[in-house]
Amino acid sequence: MLSLTLTLFACAKTPEIVLDDSATFDSTGSDAGSDDAGAGDAGATDDTGTASDPEDYRVLRGAILAGGEAADVQIAGGRITAVGAPDTLEGEVVDVSGRWLAPAFIDSHVHLAYLDDRDGMLDGGVAAAVDMAAPTTFFVADLSPMTLLMSGPMVTGIGGYPTQSWGANGYGLECADADAAVAAVEELAGLGAGLIKIPRTGSNDLSVSAMEAAVEAAHALGLKVASHATSGDLAAEALSADLLAHTPTGSMSASIVEAWGARAVVSTLDAFGGTSTTVENLRQLREAGATVLYGTDFGNTRNAGIDPEEIALLMEAGLDGAAILAAGTATPADYWGLDTLGAIEPGRDASFLVLSADPIADAMALTKPVQVWIQGEVR
Ligand SMILES: [Zn+2]
Repeated sequence: MLSLTLTLFACAKTPEIVLDDSATFDSTGSDAGSDDAGAGDAGATDDTGTASDPEDYRVLRGAILAGGEAADVQIAGGRITAVGAPDTLEGEVVDVSGRWLAPAFIDSHVHLAYLDDRDGMLDGGVAAAVDMAAPTTFFVADLSPMTLLMSGPMVTGIGGYPTQSWGANGYGLECADADAAVAAVEELAGLGAGLIKIPRTGSNDLSVSAMEAAVEAAHALGLKVASHATSGDLAAEALSADLLAHTPTGSMSASIVEAWGARAVVSTLDAFGGTSTTVENLRQLREAGATVLYGTDFGNTRNAGIDPEEIALLMEAGLDGAAILAAGTATPADYWGLDTLGAIEPGRDASFLVLSADPIADAMALTKPVQVWIQGEVR
């Protein structure tokens, strides 16, 4: 690894930041100290000495935002405080000349309870994830600085998936009927669930009507419902849900594609081997209007970070760089209500990827960030 110590503008509290590429980054020690006329001098008029102290601001300078606009990005207290024209914002300068900036990613399908590599995910540029099955004890886990939305155990039938296989130890709540399923949803919501997951596997599932009652209860509590349903027929049984936890791997009829086109799907193409049927299903769902959310099923897959196999398969399914970036950032931020993520704009978390190429033109650049920032800290 090449290394370069960036000596940041004089601030006693600022640690040296070591970057792994000396080709483009320059030491910029003299810049911010002499620039006191910046349009984004957000702290100058506030003398409370806390977050608004000018010394607490840093500016990523010289970067191009994904898509092509050059900008200064000013951060403080873990948040983005301003985005402005190049060379206009004040703060300790972090020179990212010649690099591109994109928001950090959201992985909409992971299993950190059975493979807790949150550090690997954060290091690879994933700031937030949706955990789609874990025992109830996992609700109290402190995974900061990762933002995690959790389903807790799947709401399933007696002996239903996944209680007889990998999920025997608390990954499913077995429910005999609609009343039990509704009670399970209410219990999970009370424990802090951010969504509900209900599987349909064709074996010991909740009845369709019990699932519908559970979904209605979840919606009344403001929770979306994901369904694990990997064939066209099972996806048809799951139409009360909001999203498919996986792109189905079995063939889907035109009418099922059409019905799911009004809903959402988590890609997880690599998790099932990326077969041509699965890839084609995602292409058709997207063409039918489905919201596509980037997701890896991490835990079952093992690439912590932004998965190059998943990105390659998304391209195969017809998503271009802009669509892939959206599926991992703005779209899931909006879909899941993670409103501090998904965009580089004031008020959002200072969580972003510093990239060697524009991800709009080269989506694979997302998988090898030069640097990752999570809530204002370099990983
Ligand atoms: Zn999964």
